[in-house]
Amino acid sequence: DVHTCFITESTNDLVRAQGAASGGVTRFCLAEHQTSGRGRRGRIWASPFGSTVSLSALWQNGEGTASLEGLSLAVGLAVVKALETLGARDLKLKWPNDVLWQGKKLCGVLLEVYGDPTGECEVVIGMGINVRLSEEQLKSIGQPAVDLFRVCDKSVSRNAVAGQLINTLTHLLDGFGQGGFRLFREQWCEYDAFRGKEVTLMASTRSVTGRCMGVDEQGGLLLETSSGIHVFNGGEVSLRQS
Ligand code: ATP
Repeated sequence: DVHTCFITESTNDLVRAQGAASGGVTRFCLAEHQTSGRGRRGRIWASPFGSTVSLSALWQNGEGTASLEGLSLAVGLAVVKALETLGARDLKLKWPNDVLWQGKKLCGVLLEVYGDPTGECEVVIGMGINVRLSEEQLKSIGQPAVDLFRVCDKSVSRNAVAGQLINTLTHLLDGFGQGGFRLFREQWCEYDAFRGKEVTLMASTRSVTGRCMGVDEQGGLLLETSSGIHVFNGGEVSLRQS
């Protein structure tokens, strides 16, 4: 069930406004342009007209299914797999929610959960993929960003990107619903941008520096500090290379 629209404020809002997910069917919504696309904690996500694929999925998480902690990571993996089939190489995943190429951001993932995250809930999964932006558009983003045209060194059709994403994500959500992030952990670690590197995790009130040791079976970040290995969860923290 895919809905496409020309211009909307946010595909995450639109997919939810169109009604509840039911019967295990994931609904998708695509837009040419988001006027108020957002990242985590209210940050702006740029999706200039005709330059990106903005795709949101509304997924129902059944009662008692696996923890949602790793879903954002698993979605990032699905994006990487979908883009690889279109010719992208050397993609990396930055915990918890970005796809990078040569340290530049190619795609962002934003999950929003409605209901009880440990039980029955609806999850809106938003993905923004840069397909072809001008130098000026990339520069105006405020942190290093890249598009698929530069990654693949050729034009990539936005239809193909959307089709592959929907296909890959549908399979992934089936698997995630049955077995959780455990099924995807090993593959995720193959693409880990920061494995073995010194990083600083920043939360609003404090920061922690340590060495990245991968992720656990729930998708929590394992960080080795002078006091041992600690697990961090994605909600309120940001990762930066030290
Ligand atoms: P964190 O490390 O905490 O996840 P983040 O900078 O990746 O931080 P997000 O909320 O994931 O934050 O994404 C929003 C940020 O992404 C914006 O503040 C901006 O710097 C950047 N951004 C916005 N639009 C784009 C885009 N089209 N392509 C790449 N990066 C973008």
